[in-house]
Amino acid sequence: MNNDTTTDLVAFLKLYYWDDILELANNFPDKDSLIINYSDIETYNSGSLVPQFKESPTTFLESLNEALRIIDLPIDVELKSATVRVHNFPVRTQISDIRSEHINKFIAVEGIISQITSVKPRATKIVLQCMRCETTMEIYQSGPKLVLPQFCDNENCGKKGPFKEMVEQFEFINTQDVLIQDPPESLKGKTNPDNLKIELEGNLVGKLNAGDRVIFNGVIGVLPIIGRDGKTPYFEFVLRVNSFEKLVEDYEEIIITDEDIQLINEYAQDPDIFEKLILSIAPAIKGYDNIKEALVLQLFGGTSKILNDSTRIRGESHIMFVGDPGVAKSQLLRKMVEFAPRGILASGKGSSTAGLTATATKDESGRWTLQAGALVLADGGLAAIDEMDKMSKEDQSAFHEAMEQQTVTITKAGINTTLRSRCAILGAANPKYGRFDRYESVMSQVTLPPALMSRFDLIFLMLDIPDEKKDSEISMHILQSHQAGIDRKIIDSKMAFNGEVENIKNTATPVIEPEFIKKYVAYCRKHVIPRIPDNVLKILQDFYLDMRRSSSKSQNNPVPVTARQLEGLIRLTEASARIRLREFAQEDDARRTIRLTLASMDQVYKDPTTGMYDSDIITTGTSKSQREKIQILKNVILNLGTTKVSKERILEEMKLKGFDEKITEELIQKMRQKGDILSPSHDTITLVT
Ligand SMILES: [Zn+2]
Repeated sequence: MNNDTTTDLVAFLKLYYWDDILELANNFPDKDSLIINYSDIETYNSGSLVPQFKESPTTFLESLNEALRIIDLPIDVELKSATVRVHNFPVRTQISDIRSEHINKFIAVEGIISQITSVKPRATKIVLQCMRCETTMEIYQSGPKLVLPQFCDNENCGKKGPFKEMVEQFEFINTQDVLIQDPPESLKGKTNPDNLKIELEGNLVGKLNAGDRVIFNGVIGVLPIIGRDGKTPYFEFVLRVNSFEKLVEDYEEIIITDEDIQLINEYAQDPDIFEKLILSIAPAIKGYDNIKEALVLQLFGGTSKILNDSTRIRGESHIMFVGDPGVAKSQLLRKMVEFAPRGILASGKGSSTAGLTATATKDESGRWTLQAGALVLADGGLAAIDEMDKMSKEDQSAFHEAMEQQTVTITKAGINTTLRSRCAILGAANPKYGRFDRYESVMSQVTLPPALMSRFDLIFLMLDIPDEKKDSEISMHILQSHQAGIDRKIIDSKMAFNGEVENIKNTATPVIEPEFIKKYVAYCRKHVIPRIPDNVLKILQDFYLDMRRSSSKSQNNPVPVTARQLEGLIRLTEASARIRLREFAQEDDARRTIRLTLASMDQVYKDPTTGMYDSDIITTGTSKSQREKIQILKNVILNLGTTKVSKERILEEMKLKGFDEKITEELIQKMRQKGDILSPSHDTITLVT
């Protein structure tokens, strides 16, 4: 780069950005950046400036800063540390596409911040004083390693020191390191997103947070990878940022054409649209229509509301399924992540150190790193959490906040921040004792606090009930789905007329293509904000009051239906109306919600032995009848003497009270699991008191 370029750039800045420069000069140093559009460089002089920018962007950017410094200003201010920042670079590079050819080139890359460190000053100049001759030396720092002098600069001295650090004369720059990952919608089936290191400096630090979606513009550089024996010939990419553009909240990448809108309107009028959507969700997984219908509603979502006291009521429905291992739970989660804009799949097992919410960790140099977990990364989308029962205690407690307030708060020495997690949560959990016990309540079989479970709007069971006819149907279905996958190419080209093959194809082909469902969802979320008129609200309220009444009458107990559940009903009703592009929800939307809610409540809140809704299940995880039975058994054992009671006698006594051997054995088993009784030998029982 030569003086001509700088002169050229001065003229360019004056022509295009004179007003901005004056504003900067007036507010300097509070404001110290001049933002320019890349396209303006092209318009001004694409013949000479653009090739220079493309060839050596670092030098070009320095020339831009230099040009800003030497511009004649009408006010007396020196824009010494001001920086020119380039926005709107036209080409977007994906993290996974970055290659060695990009080194020293300017790129724009979009990502979600998965990790961010605290701000640390880095010395750009250090000053040392020789303690023998008092000569001071200035050493400029640019690399990752601190450069120190070998000998004293003073020719007459030339000693190896010792040197005193004159820290008050050091010059510093603020730095912050960020790790970004591919946004979920660009993963296209890949499960592991690629990462890129980002270096922020100067006034760019301290403005971003974990979970933010950002376009970073800058020059790709490299950092050496240090092995056990020192430097290796391998490097990793790092983006040295010139500017960033934070993406707006409702940013939506999905492009919807006029044709799409027309088709969406047609589907919204289609009387079979719900059946079609249900059939299109994971067509390879047969059955579970209630669950799939609920998932369709979750996908479209209700609308969030801000109340007068500025509390936010979430519009996202949280759904959970509990079930036997191997019933396609994980498969269903994976499918939903593909449909949802910004879908993130994670496991409660905690494969990442960030857990599900967020964590703060300290590195060797004492710097804090904030790491975003799935619920933060899925902000604005769907977080599908498999194996929720394996969640750590820390995650469990943070989960409450994430589910209700839709935020994750980190308070740890030095860090005090709130991250947003406005996502719908789809959870899956396995029963505690391997397989599901149909005679026990759902709540008591999942190792999650009932209070957390009650945050889900709908909970469903996915049971693998041995049923020969159904089994053979499902296995046939799976086989056919595989076959359809293999044969698709052939079918698509030549054999489309063969009825039999065509039939096989239909078994796994969704009625509506996933790509189109995505557009449908994106369109509805953006443009359809349904309201619930009084007559529809009354249906929901009546249902809600009915549930309260029937529960309190039958059990003389507090209600299993809480006000929170009324909010859940409203969300689902709104979602149903959205699919129809309705401005006002109608009765059938409310009926659909009630039907699904009843299906869920029957499975979860009904005492399996009495068939009654039981609030005790919600608050304690054990049904009342279960506890009553255990109490009866306890009394029987007590009456027979507390230690080494003959099991045979217990079975006999229980039989007289109407409990057959199998039930008594089960109750004994339960008490043993809870540590209430001991079995010193095979045929005796001791009560722990
Ligand atoms: Zn010296």
